[in-house]
Amino acid sequence: MNRLFRSPTSSAFLLRSCFSTTAGAATETVKPKLYPDSPLTKARDPKPKGIQWVFLGCPGVGKGTYASRLSALLGVPHIATGDLVREELKSSGPLSKQLSDIVNQGQLVSDEIILNLLSKRLEAGEAKGEAGFILDGFPRTVRQAEILNDVTDIELVVNLKLPESVLVEKCLGRRICGECGKNFNVASINVKGENGSPGISMAPLLPPPQCVSKLTIRDDDTEAVVKERLLVYYEKSQPVEDFYRSQGKLLEFDLPGGIPESWPKLLEVLNLDEHEDTKLSAAA
Ligand code: ADP
Repeated sequence: MNRLFRSPTSSAFLLRSCFSTTAGAATETVKPKLYPDSPLTKARDPKPKGIQWVFLGCPGVGKGTYASRLSALLGVPHIATGDLVREELKSSGPLSKQLSDIVNQGQLVSDEIILNLLSKRLEAGEAKGEAGFILDGFPRTVRQAEILNDVTDIELVVNLKLPESVLVEKCLGRRICGECGKNFNVASINVKGENGSPGISMAPLLPPPQCVSKLTIRDDDTEAVVKERLLVYYEKSQPVEDFYRSQGKLLEFDLPGGIPESWPKLLEVLNLDEHEDTKLSAAA
C-alpha cells in the first residue's frame, strides 16, 4: 500500500494533492454559526479550512441520503465510494468481474482498488474546480482512515445510527431509478421502543410516477448479503468509529425517524443555518 504514496506521479500523490488543494474554497458557502463546543468549532477556529467531512454508519443507515443533502446545502461534492464501485461494475472494464464477486458477497474491495477509484474521482473533480468533500463509505477500515489521516485533515465525522432491524428493512426496501439514479424506499418502518429507547417510524419514500417502471434493486441488497455486510461493518468499520472518537472528531447521531424528522435535527446538531436550507428548497 505504501507504494501508492512514494512517487509524486502515483494515484496517491493525486489523492494527496487533491486533498490539499481543495481545502478552503468551500468555506464561503457555509454559515458557520457553531456551538462553542461543537467539533466543527474546534476544527474551524481560528482559521477556517473548508469542508472535509466523513459520514460513517452501517449499510442502509442513510449515509448517502444525508451526505448528499448536506453536500447540496454546503456546496461541496458528495463522494460515495460505493457509487464509484458501482460505476466501475457497470463499465464492464477489466476490474468489473473481480469487483462484482466481492461486492455481491458483501465483502470489502481492497484498499488499493478503492484508493485508485477515489484518486481518479478527486482528480476529475479538481479539474472541474471542485472544492472540499463529504466522503460517504470511506474510510471503511482503520488502514484507510490512517491513510486519509496522513494526507489530509478531516474536520468532522458524522456517525449515523439506527437499530439493526431497521437497517435490514431499509436495505430490503431500497429501490433505485435506473434512469434518474434517485434512491427511494418502499419499506414502511414501525419499530417499537425497547428498554427505554424510543420507537422509530419511517414512512416509505415512494418514487414519482415517471420512475415507477424503472426501479431497480442493488444486487447486494438481498437479506443474506445485507446481513454479511453488517457483520463486515462490525468487524472492519466499527473500529474506524473508535479511531475518530479518540481524535475527538466523532459526532454520534441517532436518527430519530425518516427524513422529515431527521433532517432538521441533523441541521440543528451541526448548527447549520436553516436559512441556507430554505433558500435551497425555494430554488429547487
Ligand atoms: P453500504 O450500503 O453497505 O454502506 P456502499 O454503497 O457504501 O454500501 O458500498 C457498496 C460496496 O462497495 C461495499 O459493500 C464494498 O464492497 C464496496 N466499498 C465501498 N466503499 C468501500 C471502501 N471504502 N472500502 C472497501 N470497499 C468498499
